[in-house]
Amino acid sequence: MKYYSTNGKAGSVTLAEAVKKGLAPDKGLYMPERITRLPDEFFGRIETMDFQSIATTVANAFFGEDIPSEDLERIVCDTLNFDTPAVRVRDNIYALELFHGPTLAFKDVGGRFMARMLSYFIKKEDSRKKVTVIVATSGDTGSAVANGFLGVDGIDVIVLYPEGKVSEIQEKQFTTLGQNVTALEVSGNFDDCQRLVKTAFLDEELNSRLTLTSANSINVARFLPQAFYYFNAYAQLRRQGLAENVVFSVPSGNFGNITAGLIAARMGLPVKRFIAANNRNDVFLEYLRTGKYTPRPSVQTIANAMDVGDPSNFARIMDLYGHSVEAVRKDISGCRYTDGDIRATIAAVYRESGYILDPHGACGYQGLADSIAPGETGIFLETAHPAKFKDTVEDILKMEIEIPERLQDFMKREKKSIKISAGFGDFKEYLESRDI
Ligand SMILES: *Cc1c(COP(=O)(O)O)cnc(C)c1O
Repeated sequence: MKYYSTNGKAGSVTLAEAVKKGLAPDKGLYMPERITRLPDEFFGRIETMDFQSIATTVANAFFGEDIPSEDLERIVCDTLNFDTPAVRVRDNIYALELFHGPTLAFKDVGGRFMARMLSYFIKKEDSRKKVTVIVATSGDTGSAVANGFLGVDGIDVIVLYPEGKVSEIQEKQFTTLGQNVTALEVSGNFDDCQRLVKTAFLDEELNSRLTLTSANSINVARFLPQAFYYFNAYAQLRRQGLAENVVFSVPSGNFGNITAGLIAARMGLPVKRFIAANNRNDVFLEYLRTGKYTPRPSVQTIANAMDVGDPSNFARIMDLYGHSVEAVRKDISGCRYTDGDIRATIAAVYRESGYILDPHGACGYQGLADSIAPGETGIFLETAHPAKFKDTVEDILKMEIEIPERLQDFMKREKKSIKISAGFGDFKEYLESRDI
């Protein structure tokens, strides 16, 4: 299958090219040229299937023409070594817990899948040259990507992060791994890290020596696999006889997660409607209200993975809906919550049900609580484990929250990083000095 650019000024490419490039040369995002509707027979028996079989069927619809089914099945099963349970929070509201992976956030699904798919394509090319994945992070992306690529053949990962600006838990998740993962601690801010990465991609000399790839979230191999768990959520609700009027509420930042859900619906998944739940960064809600999209600088909130002022996947939503705000409104509604709202939700839900939300999931939950109608079943994506935002959640609930064992394991390990300045010369010198 071919992938086209949402900007329409670059040619279509193969899956392998789309995965290796990430962004199209015209700065558009790649989209699959076809979205295959899955057969009724599949929906007829989805409730009898486990997550891995469901995901393999969905993966085949996208990637089946490009990757033989045994290889694809292996990639899917290696990726999904954890489940995504739907847990009841109150009457008709469920949490789809996406935090049971290695770094306790939903980005594990895309990170692990992309690593395995990229490795598959590299092996097929049979070049002995290693691929170097460079990724700038303000916290969560670095850990999901680094853990996703850990130990994967033929790929080295370099994570750049701003010194002193990520939480200790986040830092430990990509500085303690070793093997093929190196962490560079940049004396600067996140924008400096991102600039270093972008400059490296433009540096001809470097690119003639090294095969550099980015692993940012717009990559189709990180984006499309997120459709898997929407199907798995539906299967779980079906088993309980609750799948008539399903509403998905998705805490959204760059809108990759919700766009994967929209694609699942195009594949035939029976979803009544979607809610895009935002914090104070609400350019999408404004778009729904006014029909005008006006990017703004992001503002800092306690749901910081959603602090995005110009969501990159907006381009994909426009593409899916032919740039029609009326069409978008039929499927998606929006909502916005302040830090005060998020705190109140976390406190109230714990008081009423004992369920501990993280600040992102809290937006998703509240989006349902504010709009759910009789006869609907709401399911919000719980995108991270609350322990990843320990200080915030403990401050709201006035109690200690338990840190899962796999997070504690990271905390015990020794941090290893290489300090570099924010100047490109230092970074380039480091890249050139690596033994490849
Ligand atoms: C990345 C992230 C989000 C936002 O997801 P998008 O796909 O960018 O919309 C929400 N919650 C958490 C915890 C995240 O890490």
